[in-house]
Amino acid sequence: MSEGISTNMIAESHSRAVVLRAFNVPLAIESAPVPEPGPGAVVAQVGLAGVCGTDVHLHHGQLPIPLPIILGHEGVGRVQRLGDGVATDFTGHSLREGDAIAWSSNIPCGHCHWCVVAGERTLCETRKVYGVNQRFDELPRLSGSWADAIYLQPGSAIFRLPDDVTPEQAIALGCAGPTAVHGVIDVTGITAGDTVVVQGSGPVGIASAMYAHLAGAARVILVGGPASRLDLAREIGVGDAHIDIFAFPDPAERVRLVLDATPGRRGADVVLECAGAPEAVAEGWEMARRGGSFLALGQYTDRGPTPLNPHLITRKQLRILGSWGFAEKHYLGHIQALPRLAARFDLSRLITRYPLEDANRALADMAAGRVMKPVLDVSRES
Ligand SMILES: [Zn+2]
Ligand SMILES: [Zn+2]
Repeated sequence: MSEGISTNMIAESHSRAVVLRAFNVPLAIESAPVPEPGPGAVVAQVGLAGVCGTDVHLHHGQLPIPLPIILGHEGVGRVQRLGDGVATDFTGHSLREGDAIAWSSNIPCGHCHWCVVAGERTLCETRKVYGVNQRFDELPRLSGSWADAIYLQPGSAIFRLPDDVTPEQAIALGCAGPTAVHGVIDVTGITAGDTVVVQGSGPVGIASAMYAHLAGAARVILVGGPASRLDLAREIGVGDAHIDIFAFPDPAERVRLVLDATPGRRGADVVLECAGAPEAVAEGWEMARRGGSFLALGQYTDRGPTPLNPHLITRKQLRILGSWGFAEKHYLGHIQALPRLAARFDLSRLITRYPLEDANRALADMAAGRVMKPVLDVSRES
């Protein structure tokens, strides 16, 4: 992977970087030289870097990854240096130094069975993912967004931000935005008038509920917690009904409340599982109407098996769906939808800023659900 990467540095400049060297111990800030971009590559100055629930799982060693890595698979920033041959972004817009950009976290290989034959680039088994599987001890080293600079390798999907979208709005949903485009719009296909249940009120749940609203859902029922997250959702107009799982700890009670909120108590046309808890799946099947759809979107970390009653699939003729992350086209969809999302929802209210030095605190707050979306403000002096 180091082929074609220059070892020349940009004017002797160095980047701070939050490096994961060992699981379950505090992260430390290290320094690395910023290389000149090779042909097809781009070096970006990071402005805002998202902290995701996946980062918590990575820190705890719950996903198979190499070490050491710079964390951070969500970022927005500015073009610092363009490599030879890079004149446009992923959509063909001209790209210049200083332009505000966002970038997709992953680069599918483009030549395996899944990329080429199946046409399902999210299923590529060898895709590169910034902040997840790109080693800090191999060139170009700067491959995570929790740093002053990131080296965007050739093949990266880079998007110039629309003029009417701020960096805060672009980072507010993080990877949950394109993940929801893939799962909610592409895979599930919500249609006008649908009654939709969203299980989970973290960023994936909020993003999925927003896209359900945009897709024309007649009613979005948000089942989640803690109360602070539901309050925030309510305040920015996400969800038409809100069920607090801490106020109603009995799943049967929650199913009853959901059925009460659906036309004819028939259940939801679509249930979007965005909770990540395996037991949410059985509950979600109970909430779906006969002939309804259920999407498992939140089970990103393997938390093991859970009791399920397959009879429900047959008897209710359920459509059971899965969706794994996102590829470039979903990120593109999210970028293109951002002006409409931002006009309807106050996206910037989702984020809480931390200086890069406070990455450990941001991670702890994410793990505890104390905030909706921690964002490292890399440009902030501290
Ligand atoms: Zn993420
Ligand atoms: Zn592939």
